[in-house]
Amino acid sequence: MVRSGSGPEIQADVLIAGGGLVGGTLACGLAMGGLSVIVVDAQDPADGLDAAFDGRASAIALSSQRVLEGLGLWSSMEKASAAIKEIRVTDGDSLFFLHYDRRDVGAEAFGYMVENRVIRTALASRFTDLDNLTLLAPARIDALERNPGDVRATLADGRTIKARLVIGAEGRKSPTREQAGISITNWSYRQAGIVCTVAHEFSHDNVAHERFLPAGPFAILPLPDNRSSIVWTEREELAPELMALDDDAFLAELEERFGDFLGRLEVVGPRWAYPLSLQFAERAVDHRLVLAGDASHAMHPIAGQGLNMGLRDVAVLAEVLTDARRLGLDPGAGTVLESYERWRRFDNTLMLAMTDLLSRLFSNDVIPVRLARDLGLAAVNRMPPLKKVFMEHAMGLAGDLPRLMRGERL
Ligand SMILES: Cc1cc2nc3c(=O)[nH]c(=O)nc-3n(C[C@H](O)[C@H](O)[C@H](O)COP(=O)(O)OP(=O)(O)OC[C@H]3O[C@@H](n4cnc5c(N)ncnc54)[C@H](O)[C@@H]3O)c2cc1C
Repeated sequence: MVRSGSGPEIQADVLIAGGGLVGGTLACGLAMGGLSVIVVDAQDPADGLDAAFDGRASAIALSSQRVLEGLGLWSSMEKASAAIKEIRVTDGDSLFFLHYDRRDVGAEAFGYMVENRVIRTALASRFTDLDNLTLLAPARIDALERNPGDVRATLADGRTIKARLVIGAEGRKSPTREQAGISITNWSYRQAGIVCTVAHEFSHDNVAHERFLPAGPFAILPLPDNRSSIVWTEREELAPELMALDDDAFLAELEERFGDFLGRLEVVGPRWAYPLSLQFAERAVDHRLVLAGDASHAMHPIAGQGLNMGLRDVAVLAEVLTDARRLGLDPGAGTVLESYERWRRFDNTLMLAMTDLLSRLFSNDVIPVRLARDLGLAAVNRMPPLKKVFMEHAMGLAGDLPRLMRGERL
C-alpha cells in the first residue's frame, strides 16, 4: 500500500529509512513476517526505473537469489536476469588463471546478473501487494527521537511516525547512523568503478570474466540478450578523463581492455563512475536502532559482494524480528537486536577484510606480488577441495545461513 499526503501520526512496528535494494527487500521480508512497516525513501522508486538512474547491475549469489525468491520478488526479475554458469579469473596477460564451472558443484548456476533498475522495479511492484507495508516517498526524516518505549520521527513535510524500531538503510551516507553518533572506519581506494553496458556480436555463454589489470579488476558480467555489464576499475585521477571521452574514443579504450573474443562491441546507455572506498560502522545496533546494507558496511566491488552482504543482513534481520514477533517480543528490544549483531558482525568483518586484501593484491603490478598471486590462482585451480570452498563462497552458501538463504520459508 502506498500512502502519501499529510495526515495524523502514522504508526507501525518498524520504520525503515531508505527503501533501496536492501531497505526495500527488508521491508518486504518484515511485512511478510507479519510486522507492520513504514518505508521512507528520499526518492520515489518510480523515478528509478530507467537506465539513467543507476547503470549498475548486481551479481546476485545463489543464496541471495533464494532470498528474493522467498520474498516473492524473483518471479518478476527472472526473465531479465542472466545465470552465471562459469567464472574465469585471469591476471593481465599471464598464463595462470582460475576457472570455476557450476557443474563442478552440481548447481544450476553460481548466481545471476540483474540490473539494479530491474530489482527496483520488482520492489516497487511488490510494495503494492503487501497490506502492512506503507511507502512514503519522496520523503526524508527531519527529526528522530528514540525514547525508552518507542521511536518518533518527523518528516520534512511535517508528518509524524511512531514505531518501535528504526532501521537505517540509506546507503553509505546514512543520516540515521550519523544521527545516532555511530562512527565509521573508512578509507578510499583512490580508484573509481566505471560502469557501463555493452552489446556484443557473440554470445557470452553465461561466463563471467574478471581480469586483473594494473589499475585494478576489469569485470565482464553476462546480461540477457548478448549484453554484458562492465565494472572497470581505474585510478581515481584517470577516471574523469575516461568519462569525458567521446563515444568512439571511450569504446577504443574499452576494447583495449575487453579484447575481441565476443566480436564487435557497442556501448549501450550511459556510463557511470563510482568512487571506491571501504566503510564499516563501529556497530550495527543501538537503542531501538539497527543498520543494514551499505549504511553498516560498504566494500570494494572486486568480488561483487556488497549487495549480497546486504541481503544477508535482510535474511537474518527478517528471521530475528519475525521470530520475536511470534514470541510476542518487542522488535526494538536490546536482546533481539543483539542477536542480529552477533550473527552478522563476524561475516561482515571477514568479507570486508577479504575484499580489502584482494583489491590491494590485485591492483598493483609489482613483479613479486604478481608472481605470488599468479601462483596462488594456479594453485587454487589445481586443488579441487580448496576450489570447492571458494565456489561455495561465490554462491553465498558458506557460514551460518538464515532460513531464507537455505531456501526455507521465513
Ligand atoms: C561499481 C559497483 C558495482 C557493484 N557491483 C555489485 C555486485 O555485482 N554485487 C553486489 O552484491 N554488490 C555490488 N555492489 C554493491 C551494491 O551496489 C551496494 O552494496 C548496494 O547498492 C547497497 O544497497 P543499499 O540499499 O544498502 O544502499 P543504496 O543502494 O545506496 O540505497 C540507499 C537508498 O536509500 C535512499 N536514501 C538515501 N538517503 C536517504 C535519506 N536521507 N532519507 C531517505 N532515504 C534515503 C536512496 O534513495 C536509496 O533508495 C557494487 C557497487 C559498486 C559501486
